[in-house]
Amino acid sequence: MPKCSQCGKAAMFEVGGHALCLGCKAKVDQMWQAELAANVGALNFALGMAEAQVGLPGMFP
Ligand SMILES: [Zn+2]
Repeated sequence: MPKCSQCGKAAMFEVGGHALCLGCKAKVDQMWQAELAANVGALNFALGMAEAQVGLPGMFP
């Protein structure tokens, strides 16, 4: 049984070449979700800015 590369517990998953236990895998998933949410937020913000810049009603037919 491989050991978790982060805490030494019995690893159940492998992520990016690292053996991870359930707890550490959950932490990685949380980090990814937070990063994804941040990226989506930044994307929405950028889209909003783009809309604000090009969204001039009446300028285009
Ligand atoms: Zn672990």
